[in-house]
Amino acid sequence: MVDYRSIQTEKRTSVDIAGVCFRCDQGCCTRLSQLKLSKAEFKRSFLQHSESLLIKECRGIFIVSERGNSCPNLRGNRCTVYEIRPIECRLFPYTIGNFMRIGRLVVMTYHHRTRCPQKHRLLAPRTEVVDMLVCFAKDAFGRGVRVVIVPDIVPLRFARLLKRLRHKITRAVAQAAPWGGRVV
Ligand code: SF4
Ligand code: SF4
Repeated sequence: MVDYRSIQTEKRTSVDIAGVCFRCDQGCCTRLSQLKLSKAEFKRSFLQHSESLLIKECRGIFIVSERGNSCPNLRGNRCTVYEIRPIECRLFPYTIGNFMRIGRLVVMTYHHRTRCPQKHRLLAPRTEVVDMLVCFAKDAFGRGVRVVIVPDIVPLRFARLLKRLRHKITRAVAQAAPWGGRVV
């Protein structure tokens, strides 16, 4: 387990940023949606609440959402696992974007596309964000991986559009090929 706790020096979770968080109706802890967790984070703070969560596992990362209730670790306005809360909670209003593993290389993106009205007061310095993301990637994929962190500047929708376009071109080329190429 990577020790990331020393990296985070300031409190940036909605439940504990007294005087900064509006506790607005975006309610980041009260609307748990697609929180990305390493296996260790999942086992530590969410496994015991599995029945109240929607859980997906994607390439070694657990993605959890609530089933109509707040995060199960929220009691009143307090996070009951605050000292050991997941890295993505520490990152807020930054969010982990896409991630891809090619052998020992892990590429991970991040962004702050959120409607949090206090976003610009809460953003951590980028170096701190990158350090935390590297810790997260090593925790999730193993200490031996090489990690590249990049800002998610290409919206996912645009990336999907490019993928569809590439598929169409590949298909058109295959159909036009004299040997009658086939795309599956
Ligand atoms: S673990 Fe804590 S900080 Fe993270 S979403 Fe739940 S209550 Fe909020
Ligand atoms: S979205 Fe921002 S303002 Fe709203 S509860 Fe979360 S941290 Fe606070």
